[in-house]
Amino acid sequence: MRLTVSIDENSGFCFGVINAIRTAEEYLNKNKTLYCLGDIVHNNEEVKRLTMLGLKIISHQEFSVLKSTTVLIRAHGEPPSIYQIAKQNNITLIDATCPVVLRLQKRILEEYRNNLNNKQILIFGKKGHAEVVGLLGQTNNTGIVISSIDDLEQIDYSKPSKVYSQTTQSLEQFYEIVETIKRRYKKQSLQFFLEFEDTICRKVSLRAQQIAEFAKQHDLILFVTGEKSSNGLYLSNICKNNNPKTFIISNPIQLNSIDFSNVATVGICGATSTPMWLMKQIADECSKFSEI
Ligand code: SF4
Repeated sequence: MRLTVSIDENSGFCFGVINAIRTAEEYLNKNKTLYCLGDIVHNNEEVKRLTMLGLKIISHQEFSVLKSTTVLIRAHGEPPSIYQIAKQNNITLIDATCPVVLRLQKRILEEYRNNLNNKQILIFGKKGHAEVVGLLGQTNNTGIVISSIDDLEQIDYSKPSKVYSQTTQSLEQFYEIVETIKRRYKKQSLQFFLEFEDTICRKVSLRAQQIAEFAKQHDLILFVTGEKSSNGLYLSNICKNNNPKTFIISNPIQLNSIDFSNVATVGICGATSTPMWLMKQIADECSKFSEI
C-alpha cells in the first residue's frame, strides 16, 4: 500500500526553544565555542547538530568550577544560586530563559518574599526537572514539589497554601490535583486556605487539543521526541489515547521495527523540543516502507 505521510504543522519547537537555539547559533557564528548549562533542548539529535557548531553542554557540577567564560542559560531557566556562582566566578551569562518561565519565576519569588502568613508554596511538576529546580530556587528550596498524589502528604493542612504549575504540565491533571488538595482542606473546614494559579504554557495545552484531532485522522502515528521531554511524554500519551497505533521514536532508524502493513496514512508529530528537520527526515524515510 502506498503511504500518505503528513507532518503536524503545529508540532515542533515553541518560541522559547527557538529563541534559545537562535541565541546559541548567533553566538557561534562569531565565536568558536559556547558552554550551555544542561541540554539546550531535550532532543539528542538537535543537541548533536549544535554540538557540531561548537556548543558544549556542561553539567551543573562542571559549571561550578568554570571561571571567566560565557555560558548560555537555556529556556527552562535556572535558580538564583546559578546567577550568584556566575557573579563570583566572573562568568558572563547569556540568559535565554523563556519569557513565560521568567514571569513564573518572578511570581513565585514575589510570593515567597511577601509571604506574611506562612503560606506554603506548592509546585505541581516533575521532581528534578530543570524548570522545576529553577522555580523551587525562587523559594530558597522551601517549596513543595507535587509530582503525584503521595506528595500531598507533605502539605501541612493547618497552614495556607498556594499552588503553581510547571509550564509544561497537563491542564487536566493540574486541576485534578487542585481539587484533591481542596478536598483535604475541606475536611478541616479550611478550604479558603488554598489558592492556585494556572501557570501552564498555552503553547503546550493548546497543542494537546490539536494533537488529539491529528492522532484520530491517521492510521498510524509517529510521535518524535527525546526521552527527557516532559511535554513529549504528555503529548505522546494524548496520541496513544486517541490512536492506539502510536509509536514513540527519536530517530529514523527506529522506523525499521514498526509494522506498516495495512497502513495507508501516517501522521508525524512531536513535542515542543522536536526539530522540524527531524520530522521531515523521518517523513522522507517513511516512503521506503510503501509497498509498490
Ligand atoms: S513550552 Fe512554553 S514556557 Fe516552555 S519554553 Fe516553550 S514557550 Fe516557553
